[in-house]
Amino acid sequence: MKTKYLSIREKDNLYLWHAYTQHKTEQAPIPIVKGKKALLWDDKGKKYIDGIASWWVNPFGHTNKQLAKAAYRQLISLEHVLFGGFTHQPAADLAEKLIYLLPENQQKVFFSDNGSTSVEVAIKMALQFYYNKNEKRNVIIAFEDAFHGDTFAAMAVSGISLYTKAFEGQLLKVVRIPVPTKGREEESAIKLEQAIRAYNPAAFIFEPLVLGAAGMIMYSPEALDTLISICYKNNVLTIADEVMTGFGKTGKLFACSYLNENPDIICLSKALTGGTIPLAATTTTQEVFNAFYDDDISKALFHGHTFMANPTGCAIALESIKLFQDIKIERNLQRINKQHLQFAKKMKRHPKVADIRTLGVIFALDLKVKPDGNYYGTIRNVLYNFFISKGIILRPVYNTIYILPCYVITNPQLQEIYNAIEEAISMLEKKGYL
Ligand SMILES: *Cc1c(COP(=O)(O)O)cnc(C)c1O
Repeated sequence: MKTKYLSIREKDNLYLWHAYTQHKTEQAPIPIVKGKKALLWDDKGKKYIDGIASWWVNPFGHTNKQLAKAAYRQLISLEHVLFGGFTHQPAADLAEKLIYLLPENQQKVFFSDNGSTSVEVAIKMALQFYYNKNEKRNVIIAFEDAFHGDTFAAMAVSGISLYTKAFEGQLLKVVRIPVPTKGREEESAIKLEQAIRAYNPAAFIFEPLVLGAAGMIMYSPEALDTLISICYKNNVLTIADEVMTGFGKTGKLFACSYLNENPDIICLSKALTGGTIPLAATTTTQEVFNAFYDDDISKALFHGHTFMANPTGCAIALESIKLFQDIKIERNLQRINKQHLQFAKKMKRHPKVADIRTLGVIFALDLKVKPDGNYYGTIRNVLYNFFISKGIILRPVYNTIYILPCYVITNPQLQEIYNAIEEAISMLEKKGYL
């Protein structure tokens, strides 16, 4: 028997395999032992400002007591029950709440456990929707540089090549169109129409208004309305992947809240449980549901997850939605956006800044560097390590530095992040990267 006491760092090194990590070349991960609001502490007592809400999940800050109490209340009454043949209060209440909050055409909720599976379910819904109508459609349209998750269908619709290259040729057929960023709206719409004519696709999947993993690339609600209405006219289903944008990130509860058109299917996860435990939902219309509703059992959606609609997750999500409806959260969203805008105004004139984007609590800044085509390029690592040394967690995407904080981050904490970004740019200049 092993009796030697091992630290977190030692056990991690011996036993763990991390996300998106080349273990041979990357530094060891930092053990985090405590969280409070926008702050995290490591095993050596060093404090960090969490500038990215722990991968975009955390709206109310770490260790929120109200969410913890909701979890405890649920855990001691009904922690979990299978969702095949059984149902329960938290799932029923959460579904009702989501349907009330989402665009008016959304009528049915299918629960799963993470963003990728919510996308997986959406794509299966779309493909089988046509299959059940005896129409074979096997193509999905997606944006260039999209990110929809790492399971197979989600990976197929994602466009970041580093993540998907090893699996080329074994993925679902996907046709890509450009993101309708400023000046490319028409091109994107034309490419969508051409793709629809050429491939008879089942669905068009998109991250509404902001492509997160691509580096917070933004486009207008008007441009998205145009694309959705093209799909609607041509009988192609639309899937809004709100996994990142959902629950306040864009300044409204959902990015779809900015739209006039309604998508057929919506994917939710990340902030759904207030950043606590995994839960996801794929919601859709009565029309999509009706294509599966039949005396013929084979028309059903044969998809499920052991922990789907986990009562504890649903109970926390309900409490989290209550917190969203508190006026203080809306004020915080406006406050953070105002701070971002002030910083953006200041940085706009910076000679090393190529572009600045803000929406809701999201701030992104592109640096003027020579592109070397490497997502995990040197500059990204130099920046990441610089911020960590300053006690700030930011994960730049190549030459894009972005902030996506929890909504309870304070103005002084935001200022600390802004200052670190300015220092980082000077540091890169001195080192000759810019
Ligand atoms: C993070 C993300 C996903 C994947 O969610 P996971 O929970 O990591 O599987 C899917 N879509 C978007 C837009 C995301 O940002």
